[in-house]
Amino acid sequence: MDLLDILTDKGLRRELPTREEALAVLATTDDQLLDVVAAAGRVRRQWFGRRVKLNYLVNLKSGLCPEDCSYCSQRLGSKAEILKYTWLKPDQAAEAAAAGVAGGAKRVCLVASGRGPTDRDIDRVADTIAAIKGADESVEVCACLGLLSDNQAERLKAAGADAYNHNLNTSEATYGDITTTHTYADRVDTVTKAHGAGLSACSGLIAGMGESDEDLVDVVFALRGLDPDSVPVNFLIPFEGTPLAEEWNLTPQRCLRILAMVRFVCPDIEVRIAGGREVHLRSMQPLGLHIANSIFLGDYLTSEGQAGQADLDMIKDAGFEVEGADQVTLPRHRAHAAAGCGGHQESAGACGSGGGGGGCGPCGGHGEPADEAPAVSVPAAPAVPDSGASAPADEVRTDLVRVRRRGAGTELAPNA
Ligand code: SF4
Repeated sequence: MDLLDILTDKGLRRELPTREEALAVLATTDDQLLDVVAAAGRVRRQWFGRRVKLNYLVNLKSGLCPEDCSYCSQRLGSKAEILKYTWLKPDQAAEAAAAGVAGGAKRVCLVASGRGPTDRDIDRVADTIAAIKGADESVEVCACLGLLSDNQAERLKAAGADAYNHNLNTSEATYGDITTTHTYADRVDTVTKAHGAGLSACSGLIAGMGESDEDLVDVVFALRGLDPDSVPVNFLIPFEGTPLAEEWNLTPQRCLRILAMVRFVCPDIEVRIAGGREVHLRSMQPLGLHIANSIFLGDYLTSEGQAGQADLDMIKDAGFEVEGADQVTLPRHRAHAAAGCGGHQESAGACGSGGGGGGCGPCGGHGEPADEAPAVSVPAAPAVPDSGASAPADEVRTDLVRVRRRGAGTELAPNA
């Protein structure tokens, strides 16, 4: 059996690939790329059909963060000319959220810059959740407020939050190179707290920060160990005015390989293409839909995405459908386990905060064993043809990075 047959077979059975197999996906050549996408697509369709979940970001508080996450335009010392504002009022946030929901989003992600919320901040977010759910109780709400203290996750849950996002971002080994003001363990702790409170956990990564293939595989396996319901995959947007402004390391092909690797490691988990989709996948975005089952609609926290209508057109043109509020995102075996999340579904998020660690079995620690298929014999080193060299690292495309100037915190209408 060759690598892609093995990975497809495992994905259909919710069986974890080996580290070597995950690394081999990242090492595939451009000649193999469509086969990689097709294999990951089979796994995606098995668990998520042709549905695409839309999520909508509302940046409740922008910039002025005391933390030093080097990828973030809102960090301490950032010279990026982003919008800076303090907490939106609940009705302002609800208005922005309503625009996203009207555009087709079923989840709203409430994000605030900062190390973590105070208890007063939790009150503000609780009021915001009430305003959003008062207008439409079917909206899923995910909070992304940074590191949580004791009992804050429980308070968010009691306020009606469905999910909590906190990303691991990168491997434990390289975490200290990216951020010095908090640790990887801090992030793991917050994801664990969210999980423990019955919130649907959302935790993902950022690719393109100069990490190795091993780092990417490490963080994805660590994420899988945390047993999140959703995994946002961010592609670094190298903002001018941040320490990673020169890190243009990604190609569309590389992004697709990364998405496929995440899909194989997390076959039955919501895989979301997050920030950097337009910047790095560019005209290859529709191929990403064959692997991921979720995207953000419209704009990001501090940068602008393509027009919301372009997102909808892309989904339709590629032969996919927007997932409705009455459709369950996760496959039944996971939706049952994640019943804290508005009755089902997984989580969202994007602030860039996150954690990692934990441990789970080959099927995510959820659900019953695979219902079919005997074990396949897996070669120690999967066969990877050596033809078709990979494209070189991406050229600098600062022209594609547009600072957000509309929506939340401005007088202009949101892009949704
Ligand atoms: S990722 Fe979050 S915690 Fe880190 S600098 Fe940005 S806003 Fe602050």
